[in-house]
Amino acid sequence: MLKFLKQVGDYAKDAVQAGRYIGQGLSVTFDHMRRRPVTVQYPYEKLIPSERFRGRIHFEFDKCISCEVCVRVCPINLPVVDWEFDKASKKKKLKHYSIDFGVCIFCGNCVEYCPTNCLSMTEEYDLCTYDRHQLNYDNVALGRLPYKVTDDPMVTPLRELVYLPKGVVSPHDLPANTRGAGLHPEEILEQQEK
Ligand code: SF4
Ligand code: SF4
Repeated sequence: MLKFLKQVGDYAKDAVQAGRYIGQGLSVTFDHMRRRPVTVQYPYEKLIPSERFRGRIHFEFDKCISCEVCVRVCPINLPVVDWEFDKASKKKKLKHYSIDFGVCIFCGNCVEYCPTNCLSMTEEYDLCTYDRHQLNYDNVALGRLPYKVTDDPMVTPLRELVYLPKGVVSPHDLPANTRGAGLHPEEILEQQEK
């Protein structure tokens, strides 16, 4: 009989302990429900890509000298540089240039090595199409101005974590004109000169 009563007592103690643990867990859960969600509500809110973000490539037809360096440094020899030799000027003349973004891995090698800086990375990442062949951009498509998150009236642009002021972890409800943590390059130069 005593053994049975002890078992009941132990069981009741365990049940109370388990109940306390559940209570503690729920209090943490309810505490999280009081906080502001950190979710970025795409497509009405978008994070501003960083300065070195590697999005769609921009190309300037007039600057290209058809050297084909971009093809040689590309891991898959992707850019198509279509040129002909112009006998009158004794120079290469660019006829057509294209990059297929269905194959590109956005490594940025072509941008790094282009001697005339006619290639650059934009912050445009939304390139989806219904047809795979529409991803093959010709020089006209490559040359159009990129979409900017900050220029879209339908979108609330939000700063990425590294661009937030010191100690702030959420980009929501940020007062205007607050600057990010850390120094700007010109400020670092100024400090070094002192
Ligand atoms: S970004 Fe990389 S993969 Fe894409 S075209 Fe340039 S070098 Fe090739
Ligand atoms: S490396 Fe630059 S200049 Fe040379 S072909 Fe490519 S895009 Fe043109």
